[in-house]
Amino acid sequence: MPFFGFRGGVHPDYNKGATSGKPIEVMPVKEGALYGVPLAQHIGAPAKALAAKNQEVKAGELIGQSAGFISANIHAPVSGRVVALQDLPHPVTGKTAGIVIEAAGDQSGIVPVNVSAKFQETVLNAGIVGLGGATFPTNVKLSPPKKVDTLLLNGAECEPYLTCDHRLMLEKTEEIIKGADIIRKALNIENLIIGIEENKPDALAAFGKFVSAYKFELIPLEVKYPQGGEKQLIKACLNRTVPEGMLPLEVGVIVHNVGTCLAVFEAAENKKPLIERVVTVTGAVKEPKNLLVRIGTPVKDIIEYCGGFLGDPRKVVMGGPMMGFALSSLDVPMMKGTSGILVFRSEDLPDLRQCSCIRCGRCVDVCPMGLIPSVMDRFVVKEMYEALADWHVMNCIECGCCSYDCPSRRNLAGGFKTSKREVMKILKAREAQKNG
Ligand code: SF4
Ligand code: SF4
Repeated sequence: MPFFGFRGGVHPDYNKGATSGKPIEVMPVKEGALYGVPLAQHIGAPAKALAAKNQEVKAGELIGQSAGFISANIHAPVSGRVVALQDLPHPVTGKTAGIVIEAAGDQSGIVPVNVSAKFQETVLNAGIVGLGGATFPTNVKLSPPKKVDTLLLNGAECEPYLTCDHRLMLEKTEEIIKGADIIRKALNIENLIIGIEENKPDALAAFGKFVSAYKFELIPLEVKYPQGGEKQLIKACLNRTVPEGMLPLEVGVIVHNVGTCLAVFEAAENKKPLIERVVTVTGAVKEPKNLLVRIGTPVKDIIEYCGGFLGDPRKVVMGGPMMGFALSSLDVPMMKGTSGILVFRSEDLPDLRQCSCIRCGRCVDVCPMGLIPSVMDRFVVKEMYEALADWHVMNCIECGCCSYDCPSRRNLAGGFKTSKREVMKILKAREAQKNG
């Protein structure tokens, strides 16, 4: 299969050196520590709380029931006692309902997931969501309403600083492939493709050893951000274009992050629910690490485990630097979609004072979705949401390439992200009018 590439994109400094060679380390559960487990760690309706205050729970026990079609189960990440049902700090919404567990007793066992004859039900029971950051409930993605011919595994990890997927690909290679194989067989998908950026030759070599045994195609991808965007990955690997507003399914493809495939394997083979994940902790911390962390662990505990801050922290980001969220509190808990915790000092941050647009066109050149960010920015500033809808802002994948490359430091992606809610209302009203 040739590499087709995609238009636009940027080449930020990758800054992965501090952690790419560090094997995944398990962060132990601390007796008496508090784990705040949000009931919404996924796109869709929050789970319904099943645990009550003072209830004893075991790690892996179901404490939040999926509440609707687009929703995911939540399991106790540790054994202990429920000490509160309360709002927890959240990086995007400010706060979210959650269950606080005080860790106590033996942490060695995990309550197994109910394995069902229907594979998608096992995935639902295990509470698996897309671990690349999108957090879409995986069982829904694995129930396509139409024929899919290709399962595409996303091993790009194109965000700077992050190395958690890289380490998983090295340390859990065969398990990831087995997870993909389970999906492929269950959905009767002919083609399996694994795409990995060329800056991870060791991961490419690790997967290369299994190509003939498991019959898949391995595609080395150009090192370019956002190579791991679903639409960009599909274009690069298959030369198919997902139409505006549509899902990869429209072009016969399902895309899964490598970590998600591992979670599927662990649920199907080991009956393990999703109660922990690997996160890269790096930047201005004393000991940057790739850590396997229980969901609900507060960010401050994770930073402390990495030796604490190096210098004066100015900004802590959850996720990658391009698409992640700056935290307003270090009490924010680790969630299923958390791939990174990055600490920046003042000296690490660029000057972000905005200037007027000089119409250089760089944002247009780098936009991987073929949009015109400079024009859209004018509509954002003037709150002209009708015009924004017409200029296809809903097709923006919020990758941040335009903001990254803008010499005037316009907050382009941020404006598009916050405007989308208003634009969505306009599009719904237009749809309603069209349907009479
Ligand atoms: S954030 Fe949106 S507008 Fe900016 S480059 Fe990415 S897709 Fe294009
Ligand atoms: S990159 Fe910035 S300065 Fe250049 S056209 Fe786009 S918004 Fe204007």
